[in-house]
Amino acid sequence: MTYVHQTISDLKRTSPAQSEFYQAVEEVLDSLGPVLEGNDRYQKQAIIQRIVEPERQIMFRVPWVDDKGNIQVNKGYRVEFNSALGPYKGGLRFHPSVNASIIKFLGFEQIFKNALTGLPIGGGKGGANFDPKGRSDGEIMRFCQSFMTELYRHIGPTTDVPAGDIGVGAREIGYMFGQYKRLTGRYEGVLTGKSLLWGGSLVRKEATGYGAVYFAQYMLEARGGLLEGKKCLISGAGNVAIYTIEKLYQLGAIPVSCSDSRGTIYHQAGIDLDLLKELKEVRGVSLVEYLQKHSDAQYIPKSDYPADGHAVWRFKADAAFPCATQNELTLEDAQALLANGCVVVSEGANMPSTQAAVDAFIEANIAYGPGKAANAGGVATSQLEMAQNASMQNWTFEQVDDKLKVIMKNIFNAANDTAIEFGQPGNLVLGANIAGFRRVAEAMIEQGVV
Ligand code: GLU
Repeated sequence: MTYVHQTISDLKRTSPAQSEFYQAVEEVLDSLGPVLEGNDRYQKQAIIQRIVEPERQIMFRVPWVDDKGNIQVNKGYRVEFNSALGPYKGGLRFHPSVNASIIKFLGFEQIFKNALTGLPIGGGKGGANFDPKGRSDGEIMRFCQSFMTELYRHIGPTTDVPAGDIGVGAREIGYMFGQYKRLTGRYEGVLTGKSLLWGGSLVRKEATGYGAVYFAQYMLEARGGLLEGKKCLISGAGNVAIYTIEKLYQLGAIPVSCSDSRGTIYHQAGIDLDLLKELKEVRGVSLVEYLQKHSDAQYIPKSDYPADGHAVWRFKADAAFPCATQNELTLEDAQALLANGCVVVSEGANMPSTQAAVDAFIEANIAYGPGKAANAGGVATSQLEMAQNASMQNWTFEQVDDKLKVIMKNIFNAANDTAIEFGQPGNLVLGANIAGFRRVAEAMIEQGVV
């Protein structure tokens, strides 16, 4: 058994029942063959065994009282995965599906994503199995306060800096920041994704979506193509999807779909972005209401999705931006996209394509940008927020957006050049994994066995 296979089988034995985490680990380690061959330093330094084991995992009780006076209990997590390159950095996810496996997969991806940005940030992730749907503002506040009442002792602006993810936006960050400040008496950049009124950065809200579109543009340019005029499928209707759609319009592309947990909208004429923002950012209602204004759009309820995948990927388009959640794009979805002539896939979500779907994209040699590269604009802009907080400055929208573009270009170049170096031009999965891994591994070696 090879070094990598041994590590994976040991991991499955010692961390049972964490399928999403194994999936993320296997995807990275499978790419590392070429870099491990002929370099036994990594093996001698036990880098693979060390890198798959979080430096610290915190699991805690989150008790709170709902509006009816009932006591509720949720599970809270913060996985501080790797600090070789900087303070742990990564979001918090509030979603009923959250468990140790999900947080560990996200934390593991975050290590390499953050390394790829070239910025001084380590990898971490956290969250809770809390379902914010249908909860009042008061309930959300009490939950966030309870969550922070345990988390505050583990985080800090130079140790661990959480941010948002699914279910955690500026409102939740505000309640958590308020509680952190009350408990510690410190006003500091301990969270990112803050309100623009008190320490947030311009472009942070838009950054993940904008970044995924810039990444698609760089991939296409390298192949002599253009985003302009391309018909694009987008899944999701949260922050990432909304600002992916916004940037696609700005660059002359035509976004034609979005989706939420209940169904998919397909609008041949192009998604009505103002309406989407109103439905999701202002009113927080189901996408089915989109039809009230646009009877020419199609709505596919989840009950009508194909058994082997997602309705959104079965429409004909040139480009796909999966911006919802993990494993939302199956092999059958990938085959449908390819059969319909899709030439570029840029992932706004974390690990949205299954391993078989990824293999199909690589095999077809289309422009495929894995999430850890394509969606890194969010966390990169979080680091820009940290830099502004630390220097007590506020940069303009253009300043931050210009830096974001440069960072996305650097990420693309790092992944693309590394793929070429290892004899697989165009394979950005291989390129991103090796480029991210090398930076972390070299730092770990220089810092000794810790
Ligand atoms: N949750 C985002 C991600 O998956 C952002 C993390 C951050 O800004 O720290 O990268």
